Amino acid sequence: MIEVREDWCKGCNICIDRCPVDALEESDILNRRGIRPPKLKEKNDCNFCRLCELICPDLAITVFPDEKEKKPVKKTLLTPVGGKTK
Ligand code: SF4
Ligand code: SF4
Repeated sequence: MIEVREDWCKGCNICIDRCPVDALEESDILNRRGIRPPKLKEKNDCNFCRLCELICPDLAITVFPDEKEKKPVKKTLLTPVGGKTK
């Protein structure tokens, strides 16, 4: 999921131009500045790489990775002394 703080966007379109999978487009709404902030295309291949979040000069985008895509986190990489845990 991608959250755009619409009123923070200044319409530079860097996020749209730089998205590696061309997942963003201008939305139909106008923000307080009279700018059309970006949104995900209806059909998109967003892979939650967070590039748009990192390059937005106005910090207007936050990327939340898809919960279903989350890989389970290993509790530890170390084997405890005395053998395996349950
Ligand atoms: S990079 Fe940021 S300021 Fe520029 S269009 Fe995208 S959301 Fe708006
Ligand atoms: S997270 Fe990556 S793939 Fe998704 S819209 Fe942003 S730049 Fe594009």
